[in-house]
Amino acid sequence: MTPALLAIALLLFVTLGYASLCAVSPFEACRKCNGFGFAMATDRKGKPKRGKTCRRCKGHGKRIRVGRWLYNRASHTYRLGSR
Ligand SMILES: [Zn+2]
Repeated sequence: MTPALLAIALLLFVTLGYASLCAVSPFEACRKCNGFGFAMATDRKGKPKRGKTCRRCKGHGKRIRVGRWLYNRASHTYRLGSR
């Protein structure tokens, strides 16, 4: 197999894998708070406690995947354009 063919096959494999990942689980944990939905803070004794609500995910701890976001936009535009 030539290197170019191998590269194309690899790219296709990665793309299909990501597409199926977006279809199976469209959400992943928020990158900023790791899915907690809030920041960790410590009280004056050094005990960990719940901090501020995460501003990025507004406290639900989930983030939509980029591929799924693009798919949602595309399907919305398609639906608007066709009856
Ligand atoms: Zn978050």
